[in-house]
Amino acid sequence: GRKFFLGGNWKCNGSKDSIKKLVDELNAADFDDDVDIVVCPSYVYLTQVVGSLTKRIDVAAQNCWRGEGGAFTGEISADQLVDVGVKWVVAGHAERRHILGETNTVVALKCAYAISLGLNVIIAVGETLFEREQNLTNDVIFEQLQSLTSKIADWTKVVLAYEPVWAIGTGKACSPEEAQEVHLAIREWMKKNTSEEVSSSLRIIYGASVSSSTCNDLAKQHDIDGFFVGGAAWDGKEFAAIANSVK
Ligand code: 13P
Repeated sequence: GRKFFLGGNWKCNGSKDSIKKLVDELNAADFDDDVDIVVCPSYVYLTQVVGSLTKRIDVAAQNCWRGEGGAFTGEISADQLVDVGVKWVVAGHAERRHILGETNTVVALKCAYAISLGLNVIIAVGETLFEREQNLTNDVIFEQLQSLTSKIADWTKVVLAYEPVWAIGTGKACSPEEAQEVHLAIREWMKKNTSEEVSSSLRIIYGASVSSSTCNDLAKQHDIDGFFVGGAAWDGKEFAAIANSVK
């Protein structure tokens, strides 16, 4: 079976104090053993969080530069993330694709480079409302996946997050059936385009307006292997309740 996975994406939020409070809550919370947990602070708080978590929770950066470091002012390289004890990095989040203009190619390049250094990656894919309304959901996601499979050889280090852009931060998660349909389509595409083994072992997690009240029905779906949580990750108890929504 695929081990349940929970990511907490803190986005561009938090301060030294609010993050200390959240880490204290996480350190005090009860998490099931059969779930992998990763939290994603802003770059400037990575070392604070790496140094203060006492639970078996891993830390991810929310982004990285696409290759080796050098004359790229303002960027953070995957090598630097490794150096400060970070084990994971997020790539291709909708906010980076749509607000910062990251292309499929850039996302794939940064994943391949991060993986080559031994980092694990949470890669986000998903369609906008316009694309869904035009019945382009699968086409858009398959194109995102195609770029990834052309650059990534080792899929054991990948968790794929399906994040319907139209449901992020809205408080309205997509229905469990709608999400399952896309997760299954992703798994079938992966089977055709990588291998049966990669496809059946890849964790495909759902992200967009997950809360303790929506997580249980979503978690029951066969191809939903965990969650990527934004707003609800700021409350330690709520986050633990979502972690423990394992089937
Ligand atoms: P919300 O849970 O706030 O909708 O955010 C989801 C998300 O973008 C996780 O990466």
